[in-house]
Amino acid sequence: MATASVLDHTLWGGKLFDGRWRPASSTLQVQEPATGEILGEVGRSSPGEIEALVARAHEAQVGWALWTAEARAALLRRTAQVLEENRSSLIEAIIRETGGLRGKAEFELNGTISEIIHSAAILIAPEGHVLPSHDPSRLSLARRVPMGVVGVITPWNFPLILAARSVAPAIALSNAVILKPDPKTPIVGGVVLARAFEEAGLPSGVLNLVNGDADVGQALVEAKGLRMITFTGSTAVGRRVGELAGKHLKRVILELGGKSPFIVLDDADLEAAASSGAWGSFLHQGQICMASGRHIVHRKVVDDYLELLTHKAQGLSIGNPMRGDVAIGPIISSRQLQRIDEIVKQSVKAGAILAAGGTHSGPYYAPTVLAGVTAQMPAYQVEIFGPVAPVTVAEDDEDAVRIANDTEYGLSGAVYTGSVDRGMRIARQIKSGMVHINDQTVHGYAGVPFGGTGASGNGSRFGSLTNWDEFTEWQWMTIGGTPVRYPF
Ligand code: NAD
Repeated sequence: MATASVLDHTLWGGKLFDGRWRPASSTLQVQEPATGEILGEVGRSSPGEIEALVARAHEAQVGWALWTAEARAALLRRTAQVLEENRSSLIEAIIRETGGLRGKAEFELNGTISEIIHSAAILIAPEGHVLPSHDPSRLSLARRVPMGVVGVITPWNFPLILAARSVAPAIALSNAVILKPDPKTPIVGGVVLARAFEEAGLPSGVLNLVNGDADVGQALVEAKGLRMITFTGSTAVGRRVGELAGKHLKRVILELGGKSPFIVLDDADLEAAASSGAWGSFLHQGQICMASGRHIVHRKVVDDYLELLTHKAQGLSIGNPMRGDVAIGPIISSRQLQRIDEIVKQSVKAGAILAAGGTHSGPYYAPTVLAGVTAQMPAYQVEIFGPVAPVTVAEDDEDAVRIANDTEYGLSGAVYTGSVDRGMRIARQIKSGMVHINDQTVHGYAGVPFGGTGASGNGSRFGSLTNWDEFTEWQWMTIGGTPVRYPF
């Protein structure tokens, strides 16, 4: 049976979701970054509403946990099907709300469907173990049990997939969820999943939506009865979320920022390396946690590499991704654009050479290559989250590893080389959650343990079977037919 459109504004416009779409006391408008046009409005939550919502979600979770694994898996597969049936309108919505290219939108929707299918598939795994028993007449079991109510806080750059990678496994593993998307992307980041699960028949209250800024996010982290929080966003906010979660003794997943090294050795295929480096730094205007944040290039090849990278940067077309085949779309907000510009200007002032870009017009920032970047410059130190490729010279392999690890972040990393042995020797020394040889830094899909170390995260990992560890906890249970009698 065909489902209703996920994006029908008359169903959810100006409303919040707690199993039903309810009018909110105030609303939040959603703007298209390329044009400033209003795309729709969603209900805005107030921090005072969160406790009651968590209590209702808790009740819904108790009923949801009684569903069999097969029934939960079937519901997830139906949810994926609903998204598939809405493919063309969802692709357009992702392009318009995030300012990303069509290819990025397709990647995001496909990845989201894949996250949901994987979350259904992991339910074939055993739910625990039979343990060696201390008493042969008793059965001793280790059981995985749901966490309860899980809070999910997400950013705006890949709002659909970053929500789905928490929401889908949490629901699959019998939890209820309260999702708070970023207020810049609450339709693609919130409404879409709520509507898709609703159409698939998820019981009321298992998935809930709240909208708002830091005050709503903080109220969610602190809410009594909420057992776990998954947060994807900046390291600064992640630290605050982690502190609060610690204070309230909640489990917390933190997936944070990055400054991922992209190393080019003197035996690399430079044409391929420059293409990879451009992709790693300029894809989605560099607004990606795993973006290639520092190009670390062997002195012998740095001039040739810079020439190739500069040529690529200058050849990329810029504009509204809805209106044509462009490589670079808009920056999400004027505030973010000003921040990018400030980092570039400060770095040039400190001695970096502007090899390409450094200009902006309206919401568009030109792909920028900075040469001669050294440790004292902001372009070397901070996550830029814009289309900027800072290039730093390395004297040899050891120096490349030293520079790669000269950061508090540890999300992704990459090495380009003609020798797999050399690449592996270097890759093994890079402190990061993910590393690639002869590829760039931006990768992720549902089947891998995705996550970072250091300031990029607290060691949790999203993806396929690892989700069992993140979204359930262990309960030890013993069972005996004969009541045990003790000496007193
Ligand atoms: P942000 O930290 O400002 O916001 C993220 C979310 O947190 C939003 O929903 C926001 O409303 C909410 N929030 C803000 N203050 C809060 C508070 N005090 N308590 C609770 N919630 C609060 O992130 P951003 O700058 O919008 O997003 C970009 C950042 O996200 C970058 O640093 C990027 O690297 C990171 N990111 C990481 C990953 C990953 O998987 N590691 C993926 C995407 C983005």
